[in-house]
Amino acid sequence: MVTPSCPRLSTLSSILREEYRRRSAINAKNPDPKQVAEAEAGIRKAHELLTAHREDCPMCRAHEREVALQSYARKPVNSELDLFRLDRVS
Ligand SMILES: [Zn+2]
Repeated sequence: MVTPSCPRLSTLSSILREEYRRRSAINAKNPDPKQVAEAEAGIRKAHELLTAHREDCPMCRAHEREVALQSYARKPVNSELDLFRLDRVS
């Protein structure tokens, strides 16, 4: 079962994407160093907000645990890896 996505995380992700878009738009023109610095600061701030949220939000932490467990469950253990080696087929 997958935990539903967190609405606050979606909002913060949108803000981060918008900050990247803003920096790209500034860089596409003849970039003013002050505007570029402001755009970079906006990206850093959005990253900080997103990271802080993910650390504090029970819904996001539960989702990350679930994803980690699913990815761990899909990996074969070392004893199973021998079953998939083609060079051992006679
Ligand atoms: Zn969250």
